[in-house]
Amino acid sequence: MEKLGLVRDIDLALHLPLRYEDETRITPIAALRDGDNAQVEGIVRDCEIQFRPRRQLVVKIDDGTDELWLRFLNFYPNHQKTLGVGRRVRVRGEARGGFFGREMVHPSFKGVDDDTPLAAALTPVYPTSATLPQAYLRKAVASGLQRADLSEIVPAALLPAGLMSLRDALRFLHHPTPDVSLATLEDHSHPAWQRLKFEELLAQQLSQLQAKQERALQQAPAFTVHAGGLQEKLLAALPFSLTPAQRRVVEEIALDLQRPVPMHRLLQGDVGSGKTVVAALSAAIAMNEGWQCALMAPTEILAEQHFRKLVGWLEPLGVQVAWLTGSRKGKARREMLARVASGEAGLVVGTHAVIQGEVEFARLGLAIIDEQHRFGVAQRLALRAKLQQGALEPHLLMMSATPIPRTLAMTVFADLDVSTIDELPPGRTPIVTKVFSDARRDNVILTIADEVARGRQVYWVCPLIEESETLDLQNATATHQQLCEALPDEMVGLLHGRMPSAEKAAVMALFTAGQMKVLVSTTVIEVGVDVPNASLMVIEHAERFGLSQLHQLRGRVGRGSVASVCVLVYTAPLSPTGKDRLRAMAETNDGFEIARRDLEIRGPGEFLGARQSGAPLLRFADLALDEALVHRARAVATTLLAQHPRIAEQHVLRWLGGKAEYLKA
Ligand code: ADP
Ligand code: MG
Repeated sequence: MEKLGLVRDIDLALHLPLRYEDETRITPIAALRDGDNAQVEGIVRDCEIQFRPRRQLVVKIDDGTDELWLRFLNFYPNHQKTLGVGRRVRVRGEARGGFFGREMVHPSFKGVDDDTPLAAALTPVYPTSATLPQAYLRKAVASGLQRADLSEIVPAALLPAGLMSLRDALRFLHHPTPDVSLATLEDHSHPAWQRLKFEELLAQQLSQLQAKQERALQQAPAFTVHAGGLQEKLLAALPFSLTPAQRRVVEEIALDLQRPVPMHRLLQGDVGSGKTVVAALSAAIAMNEGWQCALMAPTEILAEQHFRKLVGWLEPLGVQVAWLTGSRKGKARREMLARVASGEAGLVVGTHAVIQGEVEFARLGLAIIDEQHRFGVAQRLALRAKLQQGALEPHLLMMSATPIPRTLAMTVFADLDVSTIDELPPGRTPIVTKVFSDARRDNVILTIADEVARGRQVYWVCPLIEESETLDLQNATATHQQLCEALPDEMVGLLHGRMPSAEKAAVMALFTAGQMKVLVSTTVIEVGVDVPNASLMVIEHAERFGLSQLHQLRGRVGRGSVASVCVLVYTAPLSPTGKDRLRAMAETNDGFEIARRDLEIRGPGEFLGARQSGAPLLRFADLALDEALVHRARAVATTLLAQHPRIAEQHVLRWLGGKAEYLKA
């Protein structure tokens, strides 16, 4: 129970059924159809252990309309007693046509008398774990519901009109009367569900807004933006000028950095919108005053690419850039750590190795996380702990190419400030996306040859097959082979997650330098890789990728001024969602539109990423459907925090208990 988070009475009361079983009526055996989940009642005519071929208990019951066989592969002496010949039993399970006639395998059953009453309400089926029996949980929840304090916490005047009371809603959801429409319970549209969803969203809004308030009480170094400082020098040295959107977000970040309160800002911008340079300019503000910055990327490839780019921009201006990843060991690592600890290294770039315990910064002023949704809860909590070590907390800038839909921005990410780069640098030609069946693979290979002949470069991405990294690799290796044969005069590379990092880096370097024309890869290139001369992206088994993942991958091309193409190769048959995704990809290049459709097709999982796992934060509300409720909860949360902080605290405690910490990760 503790593992399920069921500790207090209120936790039990808020543990709501997944579905219900109808034990309020008896179905005549003759009326059972295949696949029916039903309850029947009859007299036992036969009960014996048989070998057919496995040892099993086979029972025949009869209700006057017909006969039904019950089969138990696992059984105890108790079974034979209750199911003894001549006894009356009530049985529920799934009916199906068996070898000897109609049967139920492993039904639940109980002995009854002629006058044992039927259930008055539907029987709840609760989410549980393998080791916690449903019957035990059911009893625990029922008594928890009795004991729990279900009084209204939020004053009625503040609640949206027309909501059910919490007590009525909970009692109903645990034990609905048989006349209810099961559909409205299942799709959570029933008024009782509306009340629960509102409560949940309110708790979630409150805890996010509280986190924000708490942060506002922390102290951070306040920087000054100097005329003629590092930021200006960097701007002047860049080979391009910023887009208006980039200028705007740099300004927003600069304002935060000048305040003595830790920044907690998400920078979102579509793939290719130029977030890296914004990160560099932000870092320049901190470094100009002698503070250090850390930039973390989710993969070594990406971290290395950032490192090269930042070295190119910053070292000429006198900034030392250090490079730190898990694979860097021995003397080189010790030297690097010493440079970080002494403060000599102004900027430290790397993977999450950057926040490991042994890394000590002299004066960390700003931490930047690229592709923040790729980092897990554990890593984010570690980062928070790291950032909260000193008297002054560093500023935090998170970057993501997966735009957060509005509802999510208001809920799960309500504690963040958001800056958005909403335009691409000039001179980019939109990517054309084509969808091909695998049957036309040869055409796709011809297209590659064409593209290479024109001096362009090509990515070919093979899918991640989750169950088997080996299969995954075979797939990529086979494709690599095929392309090597089709393009005998060109260098065709292979990149996958299990290569040693030095080898990965060598392959990436050849591709970046333009010597390697075609790069076959598993999804390791998914995030952030930047090779402007690449103009064709082929994604094999595109139907296996999520929508935002496809969009990320597609964003690897269209980075230069040449017209780029993305070819999505699928293998029939396509599932309806698979079809929806490929259609969405072909129809739009706009990351925000993609994010909106993704939310529609799949729900919010992808955006939440790790934030969701380990944090049971939205069990009931569905952000794609409940936008109106989100707005109401937001309004009430704001009022409560401003006028009734005690009530706010009570409500959060009721809903989240000790789990609130997680939500801040
Ligand atoms: P992302 O937002 O996907 O991280 P990057 O920061 O990798 O994008 O930028 C994509 C490419 O665009 C890089 O080659 C970068 O140098 C270039 N770039 C960024 N800003 C501009 C700009 N204002 N004008 C021209 N090119 C730019
Ligand atoms: Mg990037």
